[in-house]
Amino acid sequence: MNKPGKFVQDGKLRIPSTDELGFDPQEVRRKYDFERDRRLRPDGNDQYQDIDGDLKHMIDDPYIIERIEREPVQEEIEVAILGAGFGGMLMAARLHEAGITDFRIIERAGDFGGTWYWNRYPGAQCDVESYIYLPLLDETDYMPKEKYSYMPEIFEHAQRIGHHFGLYQRSYFQTQIRELRWDEVANRWTVTTDRGDVLRARHVVISSGSLNRPKLPGLPGVRDFKGHTFHTSRWDYDYTGGSSTGNLDKLGDKRVGIIGTGATGIQAVPYLGEAAQHLYVFQRTPSSVAVRGNLPTDPEWFKSLEPGWQRERNENFTALVVGAEVEEDLVNDGWTELFKALGGLMEDTGATELTADELNQLGEIVDYQYGNQVRARVTDTLKDPAVAEKLKHWYRPWCKRPTFNDDYLPTFNRSNVTLVDTGGKGVERVTEKGIVIDGVEYELDCLIFATGFEVSRATYTHQADLEIVGRDGVNLGTHWADGMRTYQGLMSHGFPNCFHMGFTQTGYTPNFTYMLDNQARHISAVLADARGRNFTSLEATKQAEEDWLALVTAPNQMTDYLASCTPGYYNAEGTSKGHDGGFLQGHYPDGGLRFYQMLAEWRAEGDYAGLTVR
Ligand code: NDP
Repeated sequence: MNKPGKFVQDGKLRIPSTDELGFDPQEVRRKYDFERDRRLRPDGNDQYQDIDGDLKHMIDDPYIIERIEREPVQEEIEVAILGAGFGGMLMAARLHEAGITDFRIIERAGDFGGTWYWNRYPGAQCDVESYIYLPLLDETDYMPKEKYSYMPEIFEHAQRIGHHFGLYQRSYFQTQIRELRWDEVANRWTVTTDRGDVLRARHVVISSGSLNRPKLPGLPGVRDFKGHTFHTSRWDYDYTGGSSTGNLDKLGDKRVGIIGTGATGIQAVPYLGEAAQHLYVFQRTPSSVAVRGNLPTDPEWFKSLEPGWQRERNENFTALVVGAEVEEDLVNDGWTELFKALGGLMEDTGATELTADELNQLGEIVDYQYGNQVRARVTDTLKDPAVAEKLKHWYRPWCKRPTFNDDYLPTFNRSNVTLVDTGGKGVERVTEKGIVIDGVEYELDCLIFATGFEVSRATYTHQADLEIVGRDGVNLGTHWADGMRTYQGLMSHGFPNCFHMGFTQTGYTPNFTYMLDNQARHISAVLADARGRNFTSLEATKQAEEDWLALVTAPNQMTDYLASCTPGYYNAEGTSKGHDGGFLQGHYPDGGLRFYQMLAEWRAEGDYAGLTVR
């Protein structure tokens, strides 16, 4: 790779020549555009179907061993938390620390864990370093076994947090919230559930997850398939045998098909390839698959860490991924390498003298260099050059979640594994016997959908599967009919004492748990302060909400970047416009770190700016 300094001459940007780079950026750009264009489709998000009606069994909870039997409860509490994933758990832990202990967590699943409760597919692993991904390591005094933990360890850690903070006693599992309704007279929310519970909560915090509702492609014939079928987030180990660590021994005589080669497909495929009589991987768009390099944790190093180390490490990671200056890269992995390549180059060119356009040109070159490295890895790994070509991704790194895996690519060297590339078109249809691509029918015993989750194709309340009725009987779905409307990504006008966590116009980082922890710390500090001051209701003003909307929806670099991307859920399948778009649209423009600082400054001011306080 060229030294960044080569891009500057007499203090001015000099775009290096094709000879110096070893590739022609324009040619790469043309290829990226070509691959994007042939994937764009007019139906965008509508190509997917909800899993309901006669498919609803596909989202039943396969992990519940026994149904919890209990009487309905009627309680008056300070906070109701919706969701027992890491967001809800962090919220509860931080409330506990802030001295607020009369809260309840309500969760449809049978235990803590959220994503890690549902996604038990073989090979499921965190893709951000476990030392920063697994929350509350300091508090629970737990050392992850490896740099990247697998699902059983993460799920177990969720249970550890549950025990450590006494959360089991304050949670209702296997309980689905039906409605949240604001009671203007009592200044409380009435929370009703499918178990007949009625909780009267001063505040509600919704952490129902951003990738919680599995989706299926709207393929003709999907209901006709007579073989076995399931979604990766509801893995059927009764059928496959084995566990999330592998040994899927019941697949030895089965022809298995998997649709989807995103972050989930990449992790599951090596296990399926190892076990199935034959595995067909149906690919529409290849993922970028970089080096994982997992390692066991060094206990001596872990012992040497001072209290507060996890937060410091997270801050270091977050700073790196927003391009801020740091003295040392503590995490030092594929993520930070990627960002260092992108950010470091710009710094070294003396960014103050460069125009936005010049910066974009440099960013593009670095992206292409990174892409070339990942593609070279495919060439080096695959025995068959024709298969290698099909496994190469042609889009910039942030068009889809980058993946890191050392077993995925070699799986395609196995004689019992076939890559069925669909040339960007996707699976054509499903028949009683299997899948049809280009008129060829692939007969299957089992068809697995690694096709992801609903994002921005349905309303927030549909995704969260509940009704939220605010002041004057206004439904949140109606208030957000044209897209989310929040103040600080956390509250909405007309919905007092109701807080949102997750990807709701906040500042984000690739490490979701750190983002959730910062939100939890902020909300718990606000609630503790409000209680100390006897405030009974906090509500975003209309003006504050409008100003925030203007801030987060103003076109920025990311808008243009995503518009040039191959379709996916990050850009609403290539149709994203303003805030009514994909996953990565409509967030705080200055990134996670600055966002958390901004919230801290807001709290320090102490005047609850932007809120009406009663
Ligand atoms: P994604 O939405 O990322 O991937 C869905 C896959 O299904 C894509 O490959 C998509 O192709 C494919 N697909 C959809 N429709 C069709 C069709 N008609 N024919 C063929 N293929 C089709 O879902 P994932 O579950 O993989 O990942 C979701 C997110 O979950 C990730 O982005 C990540 O944020 C998170 N995750 C994190 C992990 C971790 O390690 N921490 C692990 C797994 C997931 P196309 O790309 O063309 O749309």
